[in-house]
Amino acid sequence: METKEFHYRAYRPRPFTKEERSKTTILFGGLTWKHERLIQGSLERMGYKSMPLPNIERQDLDIGKEFIDVGACCPTTFTAGNLARTLMTLREREGEEGVKNNYLFVTIGACGPCRFGQYHESYERVLEGLNLTDFRLFLLDLMQMEQSAPGGGLEISMPLTFGLVYSMFYADLITDMEYAIRPYEVVEGSTDRVVKESIELLYEKLKNRPIKGKKIDSLVWHVFTGYFVDALKEVRRLWDEIEVDRLRVKPKVKITGEFWLQTHEGDGNYNIKRWLEKEGAEVIPPPVAVWMDYLINMELFKLEDAKGFVKKYYLKKLAIGTIAGLYKMVYNRLRKALNNIPNPLPDQRKLKELARPYFHYRLTGGEGHMLIGKALYAYLNRQAHMICELSPYGCLPNTMSVGAMAKVLGDYPDLLYAPIEIKGDAEVHAYSRCQMILTEAKRRAKEEFEEVLERTGLTVEDIRNFEEDHPELRRATYKVPHYGYAGTASNYAMHIAKLMGRI
Ligand code: SF4
Repeated sequence: METKEFHYRAYRPRPFTKEERSKTTILFGGLTWKHERLIQGSLERMGYKSMPLPNIERQDLDIGKEFIDVGACCPTTFTAGNLARTLMTLREREGEEGVKNNYLFVTIGACGPCRFGQYHESYERVLEGLNLTDFRLFLLDLMQMEQSAPGGGLEISMPLTFGLVYSMFYADLITDMEYAIRPYEVVEGSTDRVVKESIELLYEKLKNRPIKGKKIDSLVWHVFTGYFVDALKEVRRLWDEIEVDRLRVKPKVKITGEFWLQTHEGDGNYNIKRWLEKEGAEVIPPPVAVWMDYLINMELFKLEDAKGFVKKYYLKKLAIGTIAGLYKMVYNRLRKALNNIPNPLPDQRKLKELARPYFHYRLTGGEGHMLIGKALYAYLNRQAHMICELSPYGCLPNTMSVGAMAKVLGDYPDLLYAPIEIKGDAEVHAYSRCQMILTEAKRRAKEEFEEVLERTGLTVEDIRNFEEDHPELRRATYKVPHYGYAGTASNYAMHIAKLMGRI
C-alpha cells in the first residue's frame, strides 16, 4: 500500500507590501464595537483600509468548534468561529481570490502560560479548514511600540501606536460613562444615543488627528497635546444634555474575569452586563486600559524582584516607572475632561498587595492576581455591593483564581461574589446563579440607602425639593463624590445632605 508523507509546515503569511495598502482591508476584532470603531479611525489616519469583524454571535461558538481543538477555552472558540464566519461570508461575496488578495487579518499575541499565546495557532486551523492557507494572518506583539509585518505594508509606528492607545482610552472612558449613567437616565435610550454620537465624534477626531514627529517627538506630542482632551470636552457637552435620576436604589455590580470575556458585550458572555442592568443593577465595566497598566507594572515588579542582579537597575526602574506614570497621567487628564465621571485606574501596587496572601503576582496568565486584588479592592473600599467574575470554560488561569477566591471568602465571608462559568451555551444556568447573589446585593443596597436617610434625617421628598432648586444635580455629568457607600443613591443622598448643611 502506498503511504503518503505529510510534513509539518509552520504557517508563514505571504508578504503584504506598501503598494497593496490602498486596496487591502485589514480585518481585526475581539473588543467592543466602540473600541473597534475608534481603532478604525486610528488606522485610517495612517492610510490603512480596515474593517472590524462582526460582533460575536452564538453561532460562532458552533462554527469555532468545527475548526479548532474541542478543549480550547471559550474565548478562543468564539473568536476563531467569528473569523471563520467572516471569511466564509467574504468568500461567498468576493470569491476565494478576492478574500486572499483583498483582505488580511491582524491579531495580537503575547507569551504566557495560557491560550492567549496560541490564538494565532487556532486561527491557522481555521484557514486550513477553509482551505484558505494563502490568506494573510499577521500576529503582532502586544508589548512592542514599533514593529512591521513581512513585506513592510503594515508598519506599527509610534504615531499609530499612540493612536491605538488613545482609541482604547476613549472607548474605555465612554463605556464607563455609559454604564454609570444608563441605569439612571430619565429618557430611555438617551444614553445609547449619546454613546453612538460620542464614538462617531471621536472617530472623526482620531481619523483627522495631526501627525507630529515619528519617534520621541511623537511620544512627547501625544503625552502633552491638548488635542485629545479638547475632543472629550466636546463629548462632555453631549452628555450634559442627559437628565438622570440618581435616587433609583440599585445594587452596584463590579465585573471582573478573563480579559476577553469581561470586556465583551454580546452573546460571548450572554450579554451579562445588559442583563444585569435589566435586572435592576448598575454595572462597573472593566476598562481595557487596566490590563495594559498591569502589563507595564508587571515589568516594574519583575525588575524589583531581580534588583541585586540587574545592571543599571535604577536607570531601568526610572524608565519603566516613567512610562507607568505617564500612562496614568494621560488617562487621568482624559477623565478630567469628562468631569471625572469615569473611574480611575486602580493602583497596581495595591492590587498586588491585596492579592498577595492568596495569589502570587508572578503567577501570570490571564488576569493573574488582579482578579483577587480587584475583588478585594472593591469590597474593602465599598465600591460595589457584589463582584461578578466571568470565568471562561476551559481556562486554566481563571480556574486558579476562582480556587484562590475560596480562601478569600473564608476570610471575608461578607463579600458577595458570583463566579459565573461561561461556556457559551448555558445561559440560563449562568443567569440563575448570578440572580441568587444579586437578590442579596439588592437587599444590601436598599438597607444602605435607608441607613443614609436615617443618618442624615432626609426624606426622598426633601431631596426632590432640593433638586428642583438645583437642576444641575440631575445632569449626567454632575460629579457626586464617594462618601464611603457602595450605592449611587446612598452617595447622592449624602451629597445632598452635605449641600444642605446637614452633615
Ligand atoms: S486567560 Fe483563559 S480564556 Fe483567556 S486566553 Fe488564556 S486560557 Fe483562554
